[in-house]
Amino acid sequence: MLKKFSCALLLIVSSAFASQGQQSPVTVIRAGKLIDVDAGRALPNQTIVIRNGKIEAIGENLAIPAGATIIDLSKMAVLPGLIDCHTHLADGAHEGNSDPTFQLRRTASQVVLESIPNARITLESGFTTVRDVGVYRALNDVALRDAINKGYVVGPRMFVAGAYITITGGAGAMTGFAPDITLPWDLRYGEANSPWEVRQKVRQLAHDGVDHIKVLSTGAVLTHGSNPNSSEFTLEELQAAVSEAANFGLRVEAHAHAPLGIKNAIRAGVASIEHATLIDDEGIALAKERGTYLDMDIYDEECIQEAGRQGNMPTDFLEHDRSLGEAQRQRFTKALRAGVKLSFGTDAGVCPYDVAARQFAFMVKYGMTPMQAIQSATSNAADLLGKSDLLGSLKPGKYADIIAVTGDPLADIHVLEHVSFVMKEGKIYKQ
Ligand SMILES: [Zn+2]
Repeated sequence: MLKKFSCALLLIVSSAFASQGQQSPVTVIRAGKLIDVDAGRALPNQTIVIRNGKIEAIGENLAIPAGATIIDLSKMAVLPGLIDCHTHLADGAHEGNSDPTFQLRRTASQVVLESIPNARITLESGFTTVRDVGVYRALNDVALRDAINKGYVVGPRMFVAGAYITITGGAGAMTGFAPDITLPWDLRYGEANSPWEVRQKVRQLAHDGVDHIKVLSTGAVLTHGSNPNSSEFTLEELQAAVSEAANFGLRVEAHAHAPLGIKNAIRAGVASIEHATLIDDEGIALAKERGTYLDMDIYDEECIQEAGRQGNMPTDFLEHDRSLGEAQRQRFTKALRAGVKLSFGTDAGVCPYDVAARQFAFMVKYGMTPMQAIQSATSNAADLLGKSDLLGSLKPGKYADIIAVTGDPLADIHVLEHVSFVMKEGKIYKQ
């Protein structure tokens, strides 16, 4: 009955548009100031015409199509939707608990349901797209991505990894148990210990429908029994990952803290190094030469230390982290000065999801201009995803992923911490 009624309604609505000679509804945004990230400048008084979820036209004094819905952002600064290139949205509710073994007190479906607010909060903070780079319960991220795409759940457009490809007992493994404990399949889905095992995992994940591949090249801070200074996958294993991923048209990102693991991953041809905490001068030169992105999460140290003060961070994690925070920030400045490509990635999940935008101010504090910081989360991030044709700037033909803030982000980058308007693919989620 209900279905019949809505079909009838749909017919009336479409005939109304047909009578006006239009195929679909049009939305027009009046933007007081528009941040053109491609040109690196702000444009006054722009009009954005949106149809079918995409930007149809953009410019000054454009004619407003008849029947258009007009959104007045003439007192605001309008930007492309932000992109966080390093998130973990599908690991459930952390509730102040930074020990990954909390995953074992939940079923996989509980974890994915708990992740629903993570997705909504991320979108409402202005991030219309995320590159989600790993999940403990394998494929929970695929489920969340698909639920968002089907409209069951509100969240950003997700590009997902499906699982961590890691050595046994390595940075991406669920560790800290006695050797005779056997974990369920989804907590050890990505374990691989030779080039051919790495290829097998990449093939499996490609079949599972992932968007990119995450490998762990060195030890980690937030993993029991791991050492951020150690190398994990060999050069041969990393090369196998990149080569096999390329067979499926997928890019690879590598978690790496220590210099050798960073350089092995760059030499293997990964698209980005995650964290890049202790990158040395040779690594910076290699990244520049190869065009490898560094995705440096320079804010989350604040959250790790705060969790430590609250007693919510395992002491071995705090020991791993000692001195790494400031070291990473200094190397961020070095890489920036050397002209290495930098993307915006926060490791959201370490910090609460609603504070990811605080990293912008840290990027400016450590040397970026506000425009460079914004580009890292828009045009650069879209380039890293290989989606510059659809994402990362406000141009005709791209998705209408649009946010607005009060104030001028080029004068005060902190205004990005309070996004007041969010549109994803032409649909408004916050106003
Ligand atoms: Zn991470």
